[in-house]
Amino acid sequence: KEITDAPILIIGSGYGGAVSALRLCEAGKKVVMLEMGLNWEKSGIPFSNMLKPGKSAAWLKKKTIAPFMNIFSLTPFTGTLDRMDFEHINIWVGRGVGGGSLVNGGMAVTPKESYFREVFPDLDAKKFYSTYFPLVHKELKVNVIGEQFLKDCPYYKFTRVGEAEAHKAGFKTIRVPNVYDFQYMEKEYKNEVPRSAFNTEVIYGNNHGKNSLDKTYLKKALDTGNLEILDLHCVDNIKLNDDKTYTLNVQQTDTSGAVVADKVFNCKKLILAAGTMGTLKLLLKSNATNNFPIHEQIGKSWGNNGNFMTGRNWVKPLSGGTGAKQSTIPVGGIDNWEDKEHPFFTEIAPLPMGMDVATALYLLINRVDKKGEVSYDSINKKLSLNWDQSNTAKMKENADYFIKKMNRANGGTRSHFLFNNGFGADVCYHPLGGCVLGKATNEYGKLNNHDNLYVLDGSLIPGTIGVNPFVTITAIAEYCIENLIRQNEFA
Ligand code: FAD
Repeated sequence: KEITDAPILIIGSGYGGAVSALRLCEAGKKVVMLEMGLNWEKSGIPFSNMLKPGKSAAWLKKKTIAPFMNIFSLTPFTGTLDRMDFEHINIWVGRGVGGGSLVNGGMAVTPKESYFREVFPDLDAKKFYSTYFPLVHKELKVNVIGEQFLKDCPYYKFTRVGEAEAHKAGFKTIRVPNVYDFQYMEKEYKNEVPRSAFNTEVIYGNNHGKNSLDKTYLKKALDTGNLEILDLHCVDNIKLNDDKTYTLNVQQTDTSGAVVADKVFNCKKLILAAGTMGTLKLLLKSNATNNFPIHEQIGKSWGNNGNFMTGRNWVKPLSGGTGAKQSTIPVGGIDNWEDKEHPFFTEIAPLPMGMDVATALYLLINRVDKKGEVSYDSINKKLSLNWDQSNTAKMKENADYFIKKMNRANGGTRSHFLFNNGFGADVCYHPLGGCVLGKATNEYGKLNNHDNLYVLDGSLIPGTIGVNPFVTITAIAEYCIENLIRQNEFA
């Protein structure tokens, strides 16, 4: 087996991994990053759009795995979108250099300060809102759509209809910032540049316009000359050595998923940034197979960030519905968070199907009243999740309240076209928690019971943050790595 020694290893190239890499590289450290997905930019393979799913559409699957309408066959390829299926919930994640930033909708939402304080009572919220969130907005290139463009552009009819209907039903709407470059979007509308958001590109990757991590944090980190990214390298398990260093068993694959090399990596310092589910799998599996020490809090306080999908059919069919042409980039949201009985936030989501299906799609984000727990099933060798309908009962009540109120004011029915009973309780885009900051780790993400292991990704957030999570994941990672470097953890 090929053996590599690296002083600092990062597993995963999503938000937590990318932030850690940049700040360590800027501090002059040599960093090796292992990513199981493909380096799409280097491969030169274009991303496919939603109407013509191709190589990038799914992680080694024979059929597409979007939340609905999976009518397309595929040749298995290491695509960008993966789905982990559990009995009561399906969890979508991004794969590839850039992690979730490749497949997500780019919605860059800062949590409400009051809720951030509630979720993280021990953090200095003032410092987050004055320093880390503004820093993250700058690094991620967060921007806002021009109101006039939004008003005029036929591709945003679904947003305009959604907002007008929400107002009629008595709800408050908000403009949602995004990392998609809206100046690029205005040019693509005029056909001055190739189309991406207006060409149904998003959950299988964007060829243009979107400032995913490969164009921001990772690019800056690579420019320092201190970062090496090894793609198609999947970490199978971790061992703790007597001298407190780590040994990783890694499989290098080709794009069909076949193993081309079994490798061993040794490192002094290890950063786990494999995303909530990836990090939990590595910790729990290594514990089950290698006696890897883990703290009792690992797997606890897991949540779906209150994700609950729902939709309405026959949305204003006579006035032309929600539009045949739809941008893939959401810019509108309904903010009902202050309602004591039914607190939720919902994205007015696009449904770019190439025809007007007079259907509105919503991804609700609720509080998580009842958290779940992740463990490892050694017999079937996979993660198991303690999560069922009781965890989403209140979310369903909120969705029902929302849909009924919208339909009463505007007409329409609950969407049986999109979901079996009109409710997608099992759709999760935002798995969070299981390795909570200050509980399973110290105050800066150093794992309890370890001297040289750090967790820096969505698993630090205790299952809920009230809005789409990547801005918060990035800010927490900035805060942790800054303090870890200051404490000479990587000296
Ligand atoms: P990730 O971004 O998930 O990165 C983890 C990386 O680690 C991945 O690249 C993975 O391939 C790699 N990895 C995992 N295991 C291993 C292993 N064993 N070996 C090597 N590599 C490994 N959030 C928002 O804020 N706004 C949105 O608009 C939004 N839209 C979304 C839409 C979709 C369809 C999805 C799926 C998610 C969306 N999200 C959105 C959620 C957001 O993308 C995630 O919360 C975020 O990416 C999580 O960041 P992370 O750093 O925890 O890990």
